[in-house]
Amino acid sequence: MKIYNSLTRKKEELVPIEEGKIGMYVCGPTVYDSPHIGHARSAYIFDVIRRYLIYKGYGVEFVRNVTDIDDKIIGKAREAHSSQCTAYSLKEKSAKIAKKYLEAYHEDMALLGIEKPDKEPKATEYIPKMIAFIESLMERGGAYASGGDVYFDIKKAKRYGKLSNQDIAKMEVGARIAPGENKRDPLDFALWKAAKEDEPSWDSPWGKGRPGWHIECSVMSSDILGDGFDIHGGGIDLIFPHHENEIAQSEGAGKRFARYWLHNGLLTINSEKMAK
Ligand SMILES: [Zn+2]
Repeated sequence: MKIYNSLTRKKEELVPIEEGKIGMYVCGPTVYDSPHIGHARSAYIFDVIRRYLIYKGYGVEFVRNVTDIDDKIIGKAREAHSSQCTAYSLKEKSAKIAKKYLEAYHEDMALLGIEKPDKEPKATEYIPKMIAFIESLMERGGAYASGGDVYFDIKKAKRYGKLSNQDIAKMEVGARIAPGENKRDPLDFALWKAAKEDEPSWDSPWGKGRPGWHIECSVMSSDILGDGFDIHGGGIDLIFPHHENEIAQSEGAGKRFARYWLHNGLLTINSEKMAK
């Protein structure tokens, strides 16, 4: 069987790392609002790919993560927090928001006949493993702590831009460091973010904070499927920066990352990406 690999920009023979088995990781939803049909696009495409692989006789382990902590979830929790006087902390409220919208996502995908993945790891369940991963990146000189944040050092990535087919020198042109960011290079990205005021946070060697978005996929995919796993998938809009950063982090930590990258096109409405 041949599949189109975004990494090499070619159709390639699919050769699993373990004969007869396929490990597949797909970036899942950030659960901060009700799902729309744009979310279903990625879900059904990878559901079809999984079913086809099973039909062809492969044993498939399909992992799709859930981002259950991020700025949008916290923002929603903050709105609910100020309007209804409750005894909940913002962390508990964020967890409730994430749970509510993950249930809505499950319900809607089930209505469309899309099967659940074999494993559905949540970012908040992986904080200690993410911290350990960031520490190993720092030990190898690929990341640095600054003002309670930790950033990936883009200059240490050997082949940054290989997935999105971009030249790092060109990417630097016009790039700026935003106010409040403590990074050295505009292309450096956050692995760990220091908590502001009352934000939900976890203890870390760099103080209270929470993980950046990209790190969760590097950690959860390899933890469950192993180094050099077979297929990594997601929407075409995730190629840059999300997937490029996942590769940089994992290779920076000395790991072999996904070997085949599959990207689905986006659902468009009036020639624009279907969004909320
Ligand atoms: Zn991801």
